[in-house]
Amino acid sequence: MVNHENPMTKYIELENIGSGGFGQVVRALNNATGGEVAIKKINLQGLRRKQLTLNEIMIMKRCRSPSVVNYLDSYLLGEELWLVMEYMDGGTLSDVISQTHLSEDQMAAISRECLQGLDFLHLNHVIHRDVKSCNILLRTDGSVKLGDFGLSTQLTPEKSRQCTVTGTPWWMAPEVVMRQPYGPKVDIWSFGIVGFEMVEHEPPHWNQSPASAKRLIATGGTPQLRWPKLVSALLRDFLSCCLQTDEERRWSADELLQHPFVTSAKPACTLAPLINSVKK
Ligand code: ATP
Repeated sequence: MVNHENPMTKYIELENIGSGGFGQVVRALNNATGGEVAIKKINLQGLRRKQLTLNEIMIMKRCRSPSVVNYLDSYLLGEELWLVMEYMDGGTLSDVISQTHLSEDQMAAISRECLQGLDFLHLNHVIHRDVKSCNILLRTDGSVKLGDFGLSTQLTPEKSRQCTVTGTPWWMAPEVVMRQPYGPKVDIWSFGIVGFEMVEHEPPHWNQSPASAKRLIATGGTPQLRWPKLVSALLRDFLSCCLQTDEERRWSADELLQHPFVTSAKPACTLAPLINSVKK
């Protein structure tokens, strides 16, 4: 699974850019090419962490698309696994949402880019299972990509539905919190919650504990915007297509890419000024 060379001779570490339960993410330079990369250093202690990491590498290796943060290499250093990925120099969508107010044009362009990523994953029978603004990564040229495949799962002909309750509570689809078998459309619900984040700066039930949020998702139906009149009818319709509680009625990524809110979106490069201004 891993490259046996010594990564310390290949990369120069520059700075720490993120951290999580797994360890840390650093920005580094590839000595040979001068190109920037992100290295996620994962502490492998514990069986669960080993399984999640193996899963993340296998899915990232298979899923190569301009809409997904690309895997470059991996190395094992004792109990630490280094996952080398393309460097996303614009931070996360969560940074943008917390620091500025997005226009509907910007929301539409971001939506199209994310839906292209989800459509690609779903065509390849992969469910991301942790779609949220902090797992949507940006580049200063305006690119928007899905990242963090730690909780993703690969569906197979034998196992075309999943039952494991996983993800981040506020973004979880009703069928997940209700422990029902589910498929790729759980990502569409979570993406609808990202739509809420883009409009209201936070997901529904954000002030609730994880357990209460899950209870409210199970019983609350389609979440309603606090100030619906402040957004266009087109955006409201788009969100309601993502946030149908009945999975059958919820649109697929492919269908949402045909929604007029998305088809009228401007190219991703128009997001560059926004991403650069937040980065500054
Ligand atoms: P966990 O995997 O335990 O849920 P996490 O979701 O915080 O943790 P990641 O999202 O993979 O882990 O990475 C943590 C942070 O590192 C991200 O929020 C982002 O700020 C930064 N980061 C991750 N990957 C990249 C990348 N390819 N380019 C630039 N920054 C990145």
